[in-house]
Amino acid sequence: MKIPSLSVLIVVSIISGPVLTEAEERSLPAECSYEMQVWNVNLRSSAQAKKVRHPYDDLTPVETDRDTGCTVCSEDQVLVDISPLQPFFVCHRLAPRVRAVVRDLLRSGSSLHSVVGYRVIRSRGPVDEQGNRTEFSNHSYGTALDINPEQNGLYDDCVTFGPQCRLIRGGEWKLGVTGALDKNNPIVTMFKQAGFKWGGEIAGKQKDFMHFSLTGY
Ligand SMILES: [Zn+2]
Repeated sequence: MKIPSLSVLIVVSIISGPVLTEAEERSLPAECSYEMQVWNVNLRSSAQAKKVRHPYDDLTPVETDRDTGCTVCSEDQVLVDISPLQPFFVCHRLAPRVRAVVRDLLRSGSSLHSVVGYRVIRSRGPVDEQGNRTEFSNHSYGTALDINPEQNGLYDDCVTFGPQCRLIRGGEWKLGVTGALDKNNPIVTMFKQAGFKWGGEIAGKQKDFMHFSLTGY
């Protein structure tokens, strides 16, 4: 009988195994606290930072991601600390598969230089009178990752990539540069195998080449 290699076993367990097992093994925190930023479309920057703290029982619907059950609370985030990457936080429910993919990528020598996960920011949804966005991004729930932002910028006016695209965050995306992502890069293919969508392939007028999440946005 042929014994499957370790990497095959890891991939199979990521795809078919119960992804949210960690959730059942922990008790709910007593409190929910987080520091929230708000993206202003006029200033094109996040100007405010607000500290929020309340009993965990008082979570409002918008503070929880319906698909994953992950919340904006810092108490629901866990540290992913794998050398030589700078440590980053993700939702406890996604941490096992994020750790598995990151370990595999680093072991195989891929150009994974930097990862940012949890960051609470209202950067989506309708704009209020002051120009502030009103809905939480996926990063706010710890369910999105930004990978190698210096080589994989976020572009607007970019239904298909071309000279009309306007860089609004991160560094210029140039194919062939070390760390720049494309659909054949192992960083993209392995995160997609683990159920993530890549922001370089999302529909709409933005291309977010650094961005990975379960919904793509
Ligand atoms: Zn992102």
